Amino acid sequence: MHYVIIGCGSAGRAALFQIRKHEPNAKLTVVSDEADPFYLRPYLGYYLINEKLPEAQKLADSDLRELTGIDFKLGVKVNRVIPKENTVELTDGSRLQYNFLLVASGTRFWPQELAPEGIACYTLKTRADAKRLKRLTDDVEAVLVYGGGYQALELMRIFHLKGKKASWLAPPGFFWPRKLPNVTAIEVKEMMKELGLDVRTDRRITHALDLDGYRYRITDDQGDTYDCDLLVLAPHEAPRIEFMLDSGVHIDRGILVNEELKTNIPNIFAAGDCAQVYDINSGVSVVNFGWKSAAKQGQVAGDNMTGNNQVVIPTQDEFVLDLMGKKLLERW
Ligand SMILES: Cc1cc2nc3c(=O)[nH]c(=O)nc-3n(C[C@H](O)[C@H](O)[C@H](O)COP(=O)(O)OP(=O)(O)OC[C@H]3O[C@@H](n4cnc5c(N)ncnc54)[C@H](O)[C@@H]3O)c2cc1C
Repeated sequence: MHYVIIGCGSAGRAALFQIRKHEPNAKLTVVSDEADPFYLRPYLGYYLINEKLPEAQKLADSDLRELTGIDFKLGVKVNRVIPKENTVELTDGSRLQYNFLLVASGTRFWPQELAPEGIACYTLKTRADAKRLKRLTDDVEAVLVYGGGYQALELMRIFHLKGKKASWLAPPGFFWPRKLPNVTAIEVKEMMKELGLDVRTDRRITHALDLDGYRYRITDDQGDTYDCDLLVLAPHEAPRIEFMLDSGVHIDRGILVNEELKTNIPNIFAAGDCAQVYDINSGVSVVNFGWKSAAKQGQVAGDNMTGNNQVVIPTQDEFVLDLMGKKLLERW
């Protein structure tokens, strides 16, 4: 029996352990376009603030080494899934044949909706992004965060704690989306004010000028200007499913799965942020972003791929804002 898992974040890793538990001798292949087999994505901020913080040390914490006989195909992307042939096609030209496939590909950002023309912009999604930002921020004084939601708040936290002059510019509808529970837009604004941070909402960047190859002058639609050394984006994110589009697997906002995380094709499952899960209580299929819900779904998918019938019931509070033991506004 050959199990193939696309993505080794929270969901992929949890599934890996469950499959190994139920089928110790099965062949297991994990494909990820990242260089690391696994790391704790929510701790990227701590890594950027200070590599020596105890939380940052946990970034690389991986008990994957307890598992043997897993073929990790790292730094390679899945191009296409061909269910009729039980095959996935990789960007290095190779193909993998599976008996069961789990898609645990998470989300992607849409930086193009925000990025002004002509200057370099960055995001924080992967460990490679964190390493790049770490290198860049050491030499800068002023950072402009453009976008909103949890990502923008996390970026403000990072740059503030690194002693940078941080400003937050949020286009209309971006500042604090309603889907983020437990913390209100007003509380976020009040906290930014108390910390003396510059936050301006309902403004769009209209142009960006590269002053000398190091500094930029950004102008918003109300005519205000911001000089900064670094522009970091906090765009919307969406399930990363482009490689599934021609597969015949049903897709809406995410990969559609039933409460057992099965797609319309019986040997293909999806779990985590890329999945749109049928909620047996409401009758609606929902996409849920969050580390713990992805881990839970990965575990259930791993169980069910090996012959069980576990059910996932999505809940609203699954975006775990106190994942690090501290609530969102207490991490500063
Ligand atoms: C900076 C940051 C801080 C966060 N903080 C929190 C927090 O405090 N609390 C919380 O609940 N959530 C937090 N999150 C969100 C959380 O990390 C995600 O919800 C979680 O990682 C989702 O897990 P996943 O397994 O579904 O996907 P991911 O962890 O995104 O893993 C998916 C993997 O699949 C790979 N992949 C995708 N497509 C392909 C392909 N075609 N071929 C090969 N590989 C592919 C990706 O590169 C990635 O490695 C944070 C996210 C970020 C970026």
